[in-house]
Amino acid sequence: MSEKLTSGMLIEMEDKYGAHNYHPLPVVLSSGEGVYVWDVEGNKYFDFLSAYSAVNQGHCHPKIVGALIDQAKKLTLTSRAFYNDSLGVWEKYMAEYFGYDKMLPMNTGAEADETAIKLCRRWAYDVKGIEKYKAKIIVCNNNFHGRTITIISASTDPDSYEGYGPFTPGFVKIPYNDLNALEEALKDSNVAGFLVEPIQGEAGVFVPDDGYIKKAYDLCKKNNVLFIADEVQTGIARTGSLLACDHEAVRPDIVILGKALSGGVIPISAVLADDEIMLVIKPGEHGSTFGGNPLAAKVAMAALDVVKNENLADNAVRLGEIFRKELSVFNNETIKIVRGKGLLNAIVVDLKNGKTAWDLCVAMKDNGLLAKPTHGDKIRFAPPLVINEVQLRESIDIIKESVKSFE
Ligand code: PLP
Repeated sequence: MSEKLTSGMLIEMEDKYGAHNYHPLPVVLSSGEGVYVWDVEGNKYFDFLSAYSAVNQGHCHPKIVGALIDQAKKLTLTSRAFYNDSLGVWEKYMAEYFGYDKMLPMNTGAEADETAIKLCRRWAYDVKGIEKYKAKIIVCNNNFHGRTITIISASTDPDSYEGYGPFTPGFVKIPYNDLNALEEALKDSNVAGFLVEPIQGEAGVFVPDDGYIKKAYDLCKKNNVLFIADEVQTGIARTGSLLACDHEAVRPDIVILGKALSGGVIPISAVLADDEIMLVIKPGEHGSTFGGNPLAAKVAMAALDVVKNENLADNAVRLGEIFRKELSVFNNETIKIVRGKGLLNAIVVDLKNGKTAWDLCVAMKDNGLLAKPTHGDKIRFAPPLVINEVQLRESIDIIKESVKSFE
C-alpha cells in the first residue's frame, strides 16, 4: 500500500517542486460537490471563493461532468484545421443565448481579453480609420484582466507588472467610476475602445455608482469607441443577471467571458461581438490549438443550461441581499464595509492587535468556510450560485463566529 499523503506533506511538495507564484491558504482539497469541498483529511468546508467565480454551477455538477465524460469518449480535440461536429452547434447556442452575431472561442480569461484587444485594434484601423498603430484603449486603475505581458501593461498594480517590462504601449489609464475622466480621455481621436469590468472583482469587489456603466457606454457611443466589458468574473449569473451589464440594460460591443463558462470543469473562454467587429479578423490571423474544441463546446452548453434551468441568477439576487443585510448589521467595528451585487460580495475589515484579513480567513477555514483575502484588508465572498438559504445562513454564522473570535 502506498503511503497516504497528508496535507502537510502535499504543501511541502508544492513548496519544493512548484514555482512560488501563489500563496494559498493552508488547506489541501481533494474533492468537491455543490457548495462543499473536502480536504485530504476529510474535513468539509463551504467554498466561498468558487475558484474565483469559475464554479458558479457548484463543484462537479453532474450534468456538466456528464457532458464532459460523454464527449471525452467520442472526440476531444481536432484543432481548427478541420471542422468538428460540436463547434458550430455551440456557436449557434452562444449567439442565441447572449444575443450576439458571433463568438470566438479561446481557453483562459486572459486569452479572451487579448482577443478583445486585438479585435478592438483591428476595428480601429479597418473600420474606424485610425492611423495604423496609433490606436489606444482606455482602461481603469485597479483593473484585473489577467497575467499576459500585454494585459499587465494595462495594469496599475505593481504586483502584476513590476519587473516584467518592457510593456505593451497603447493603454490610457483612468480612475474607475469616474465619468469626467472618461469623457476627457475620449477626446483623443485615437481612442478605439474602453475596456472595463462592470464590477472590479480582484480589486475587492468594487461596485461603481448606479448608472456608471450606462453613462460610460453612452459616452463611448458618442465618440465612436467600442465599449468592451470584461465579464470573466462578473458574467454567467454571478451578480444576479446573466451579465453584470444587464443591470443597466447595456449591450457591450464586445463581451469577454471565461471562468464559469465551463462551470470550472475545463478552461473555456469566449469573446462575443457582432459581425462588423468580429469579421475584422480573417482566417489565419488569430487562434488557439485548443480554442473551440468539441469537449469545450459540450461542456459550455451544459454549463449554460444549468445556469438557466436552475435559475442561478435569481438565486444570486435573493441570497446576495440576505448576505449583505446580515453582515451589514452585525459588527461595524471590525467589518467596515460590506459591498457587492448578487453573490459577488466582499467585506473590508479592520482587525485589532496586528491581525489581518489573512488571519480571519485562516480562522474561517478552521471553522469550515474557505475565502481568500484580496489586497490586504478585503475578503471576497463568492459561493457557488447553487447555494440554498439554509446553507447560506449556516455560512453567515461561521463568518460571524470567526469575526467574534477576533474581538
Ligand atoms: N478578467 C477578469 C475580470 C478576471 O477576474 C480574471 C481572473 O481572475 C481574468 C480576466 C483572467 O482570467 P484567467 O485567469 O482565466 O486568465
